[in-house]
Amino acid sequence: MKVDDRYLKTFGEEGVRYSDKFFTEENIAGFEKPPEELKKKEAKKPLPARRSVESVYESGWQTMMKNAQLKEAIENKGITQEEGFADFVKRRTEPLPADADEILSGLIKTDYARTLEDGKFVHRLDGEVILSIPVDAKSAKAISDNADALLCFAIVMLDLVLFVFAAAGFVGAMVDKGLIAKALMTPLQAFLYTLDQIKLVKLVDKVCACGSMVDFSVKASELICFLFQDLDEDTLSEIFTSVLEKIVSSWEWWEIALAVVQLIAFIFLIISTFGSSVIASVLGLIESVISLVLDVIKFIAALGYPTPEPPGELEPPVKPPEGVFPGYYIGNSNTLEVHNLYEVTPDCRYDEIKEDHKVKFGSFEDVYDAFQNKGYNGCAHCMPEYDNG
Ligand SMILES: [Zn+2]
Repeated sequence: MKVDDRYLKTFGEEGVRYSDKFFTEENIAGFEKPPEELKKKEAKKPLPARRSVESVYESGWQTMMKNAQLKEAIENKGITQEEGFADFVKRRTEPLPADADEILSGLIKTDYARTLEDGKFVHRLDGEVILSIPVDAKSAKAISDNADALLCFAIVMLDLVLFVFAAAGFVGAMVDKGLIAKALMTPLQAFLYTLDQIKLVKLVDKVCACGSMVDFSVKASELICFLFQDLDEDTLSEIFTSVLEKIVSSWEWWEIALAVVQLIAFIFLIISTFGSSVIASVLGLIESVISLVLDVIKFIAALGYPTPEPPGELEPPVKPPEGVFPGYYIGNSNTLEVHNLYEVTPDCRYDEIKEDHKVKFGSFEDVYDAFQNKGYNGCAHCMPEYDNG
């Protein structure tokens, strides 16, 4: 089959052609670096600081005000930070609409693939060729591999942004991924080279191994937190502003400004709670989050790592026995260890904890508070990522 790439722009002199709906010339030039440079070692990061809802909103507001257009719109409309904060709190406590998962999972579905056709690496989105590279062109493999990784990453980030829109109470905005992908390429290209890919692969392995919805929602929330945690506030602001500008054409600038603040604040909240602030939303948007995980698996494959089996059937949540464990975590006040009841191993011996040494945690936020302020750490077997020895 002949690849029809006549309508694409030309890069260099060896027949590399790209769609300028998705890429800039600088993007393609950046792809010539060898894929090994993409791979980063796992870095042990300090726990993010716990932050109050007021403080995350304050950060979102300050970041938004750095954008002259948004600042002017907010000031002309005469909206105060206090009014914006009240709306943020209200949105976060409203339940998701019943059809939120259906709408969102429809939006998340993307048909992107790379194939070898007609002596070319061909990248297609929804059937349309967006990049074609003759295999014998200089650095052909590197350009194609890097473009593949970045496209898959941009798709994952778009899924995440859509998820956050929905979880933050903005459901139903229609999205053309093609329209917004280009806006994300440049900020994400730099970020891709610093992403801790080994940690990502480990996290996705864990998400895929989950058998119950509750377990899945806890692990997927950690994954969502991880994917956001290295993005600085200015990049987040850039991403949200350009995405909102494209998808909600009926909105006025002050509405976009308020939404940008809320979305940045929400992400900071997700990060400072290790994702536990979105567990409930994940449970309510389970099909959408499964689609997101499938896109992350594609991204891992594009990076050249072995990919896990996608999650299978998930068992619906079961209520813990009455009065036994109100949450998913139990601490031992004697050893100052916390066990995750959904991952306990025979080595945990949590069932031998004396009744008056048992500390019951209702949420991961409480566990986190105990890590920060009460000297607790994670059990080496069921919470190794939080084990201090
Ligand atoms: Zn344990």
